[in-house]
Amino acid sequence: MEEKKRIPVREGLWAEAASTSEEQQLIGSRCLSCEELFFPKKDIALCGYCQSTELEEVRLSRAGKVYSYSVVAQRPPIYYKGEVPYALGFVELPEGIRIETLFTGCDPDSLHVGMDVEMVIEKLHEDEDGNDVMAYKFRPSNAE
Ligand SMILES: [Zn+2]
Repeated sequence: MEEKKRIPVREGLWAEAASTSEEQQLIGSRCLSCEELFFPKKDIALCGYCQSTELEEVRLSRAGKVYSYSVVAQRPPIYYKGEVPYALGFVELPEGIRIETLFTGCDPDSLHVGMDVEMVIEKLHEDEDGNDVMAYKFRPSNAE
């Protein structure tokens, strides 16, 4: 039997861990001129704020807070093939950037604005060949 592959939903969203002691991190772009952050990283180096073409790639924090969310109970016709209901929204990272994301690891009704969450790489759905399509999501941080 062929081995199942794990395919990122889109290339370049996160950096794989180099070793087991490291964890995956989302990759963004930072403008060297005005310090504005962008996610996903810019394929073309151009800051939308100051028009600078000097951008650097940065690894973003794995932990953030729920900025906004909504719970979706209906399966949309095309793009989303995962479980319902699900929650999606924005997480604000300590760097000040807001990341659009799906939420996981909890009952969508237990989410609230300001909740501590952390990034995980999780299966989104299977493609036609049975491979796992992987995506980043955020889940509630474990209480200390
Ligand atoms: Zn800029």
